[in-house]
Amino acid sequence: MNMPSTNTHQGGWTSRHSAERYGINEWGADYFAVDANGHVMVLDPENPDGSPVSLLAIMHGLRDRGLEPPVLLRIENILDHRIKVINQAFTHAMTDAGYRNRYRGVFPIKVNQQRHVIEEIARAGSRFNHGFEAGSKAELLIAMASLESHTCPIICNGFKDAEFIQLGLYARKLGIDCFFVVENPTEARIIIEQSQALNVRPLVGVRVKLSTRVDGHWQEDSGDRSIFGLSTTRLLEVVDLLKQADMLDCLRMLHAHIGSQIPNIMNVRAGVAEACRYYVDLVREGAPMGTIDMGGGLAVDYDGSQSNWTHSRNYQLTEYCADIVDSIMEVLDPLDIAHPELITESGRATVAYSSVLLFNILDVTDCRPLQEADTDANTDQQALLTDPQIQRLNSVRDIVNPGNLQECYNDANFYREEMRDRFRRGTATLRAMALADNTYLQIIERIQEEIPNASRVPTVLQDLSESTSDIYYGNFSVFQSLPDTWAIEQVFPVMPIHRLDEEPKRTAFIADITCDSDGKIDHFSDPSGQHPTLPLHDVHKDEDYFLGVFLVGAYQETLGDLHNLFGDTNVASIRISAEGTIEYERELHGDTIADVLSYVEYEPASLQESFRQVAERAVRSGNLTVAERRTIVRSFSESLGGYTYYEHI
Ligand SMILES: *Cc1c(COP(=O)(O)O)cnc(C)c1O
Repeated sequence: MNMPSTNTHQGGWTSRHSAERYGINEWGADYFAVDANGHVMVLDPENPDGSPVSLLAIMHGLRDRGLEPPVLLRIENILDHRIKVINQAFTHAMTDAGYRNRYRGVFPIKVNQQRHVIEEIARAGSRFNHGFEAGSKAELLIAMASLESHTCPIICNGFKDAEFIQLGLYARKLGIDCFFVVENPTEARIIIEQSQALNVRPLVGVRVKLSTRVDGHWQEDSGDRSIFGLSTTRLLEVVDLLKQADMLDCLRMLHAHIGSQIPNIMNVRAGVAEACRYYVDLVREGAPMGTIDMGGGLAVDYDGSQSNWTHSRNYQLTEYCADIVDSIMEVLDPLDIAHPELITESGRATVAYSSVLLFNILDVTDCRPLQEADTDANTDQQALLTDPQIQRLNSVRDIVNPGNLQECYNDANFYREEMRDRFRRGTATLRAMALADNTYLQIIERIQEEIPNASRVPTVLQDLSESTSDIYYGNFSVFQSLPDTWAIEQVFPVMPIHRLDEEPKRTAFIADITCDSDGKIDHFSDPSGQHPTLPLHDVHKDEDYFLGVFLVGAYQETLGDLHNLFGDTNVASIRISAEGTIEYERELHGDTIADVLSYVEYEPASLQESFRQVAERAVRSGNLTVAERRTIVRSFSESLGGYTYYEHI
C-alpha cells in the first residue's frame, strides 16, 4: 500500500497540487514556496530571481553540524525584509497623501526577546530609525544596550517604578528619544519627581483607553474594559499634574494600542480617528504633543484566507499604512493642526515570518480500520460473526449508499453503543467489542467514500475524518515551541517540507512527545477553512519525515515553558547569500537535561550522587554486579548531558 517516495508523479499529482492543498502560496507571503521536486523552498526577498534554498537542505546542513531536530530556524533575510517593508510602506503612504511628518517604527521586545533577534532588528532597523518598545526594566536595559543609533526611539510602556523612570531618564541624558507612556497618575508623579531630581526634561506620552472595540481573539480586552490606559478623568488628572509642575511642555505623545492581531481594517480606522480626537484636545490644552503612537495590532495572515477571521486579516500592509495616515489627516487637517510624527509598534508582523519550527515524525498510529481479509483469517473472530450486534453492524456496512448515509451513521452509532453497554455489563468479550469497533470504523469509511456521490450531506457527516484519522507523533513540545496553539487555539501553517510531489494520502492530527493530552495540533486552517486534520504522507521506514510549522517567530519562544521538562530547542540562524548559498550564521544548542533540572532546583551533581548511592545499594543486595553498576551510572551521567528531545542513539 505504501507509495515509494521515488514514484513522483503517480496519479498526476505534482508539487503544484501540494501548494494548493497546504495553501503555501497564500500564507507564505512570497517567502516560502514549493519547487517542482516537492521541497519547501525559502526565497530571498531581496533577490527574488536568485536561487531559493530548500528547508530540507538546511535541515541536513544543521544535522551535519550537530544540531538535531527539533530546530527552530531563523531566517535573517526575512526579518530584515519585514523591517524594510513596514518602514517603506509607511513612508510611501505619507508621500502619496502629502503627510508632513515622518514615520518611525519600534519593535515591542516582549514579542521576541532573544538576543540574536533583537540584535538583528537593531542592525537592520538603524537605517530606518527603527527603535524598541519596552514593557519592563529588563526590556528597557535590552533596548538601551542594543540601539545602534540615537535617532531610534525607545517607548516605555507598562508599570514603571522610580528605578524604571531613572533608567529612562539616563537614556534621555545619553541623547536617546526615550518616551515614558503614562498609564496612571501615580506614574506621572514619579516621573515629575525623578526628572526634577535628575534635572532632565522627560518625553512624556499618555496612553488612552479607546472605546473602539476590535474583532478577533482580543475582543474582550479592547474598548472600555481594557486594563490598560487612562480613563478620561485620569487623563485630565495627569495633564493637571504636569501643568502644576510646569512640565506641560514635556507632554509630547499620544499612545493608543487597540489590540493584537486586528483582523478587520475598519477597527484600525475607527481607533485612529478616536485617538486623534484625544490628540486634538491635548493640543488645545496647551501641550506641544508632536507624536502619535498607534501601538501594535498589524495582523499576520496565518491561514492565508485574507479575511476578517481571527487568524487572518482583510487588508494588506499598504492599505493599513494608508488608512492610518488618511485617518489622521481627516481629523487634523480641518482643524489646522500640524501632522504629528507617527510611530507604530508592530510585533507579530515584524517577526512571525522569520522563524520556522522543524521537527521529525517519530511514530504513526494508524487508526484506519482493519480490512476484511485481516479479520477472516482469525478463527476466534469467525465465531463472533453470529453475535447479534456484530451481525447488525455488518449488514449496515453492506448497505451504505449515497441515499442512506445519515441512517447508516445513526445505526452504526446505535449498535456500537449497544455493544459497549454489553461489555460494561460483562455480557460481551473484549474481542467482540474490538470487532464491533472495527466494523464501526469500516462503516464510517464507507460513508466517507460515498459522500462525494450524495446530493445533500448532513452537517454531522461533513467532517468524519476525525474518527479515522491517524496520529502522527512529532519530536517537539507544543508547550515549549507553540504555546499559543494550546493557550488560545492559535492556528499556524503546518506542512511537510519535502515529498510534496507525492499525494498525501493519510489524514492525521499531530501529537507532541509530552504526555499531556493537550500536547497536540488538531486545528489546521487554510484558505478553504478550518480542519481538525492535516493531509500527510506515509512515513517510510529508515527515512526521516520532516514537518515545518511556519510563522512562529512572534510570542512562541517567549511564552514557551518546561512542561514535562522539555527545554529550549536547538536554534539556528541562517542567511541566504546573494549567490543563493546557505550561510549558517549562528547556532544555539538547546537545553540539556541537566539544564532543565537545574531550572526546577535540582543540582545535577547531587542527583548523580544520589543515584550512585541507589546503584551501590543494589550492588550490596546482589541485584547488580560492580561492572553493571559502572555502566548504569555512566549512562545516567551521559543522559544528564543529553538533549531533552528524542535523539537517535
Ligand atoms: C503586545 C503589544 C504590541 C505588539 O502587538 P502586535 O500585535 O504583536 O503588533 C505593541 N504595543 C503594545 C503596547 C503591546 O502591549
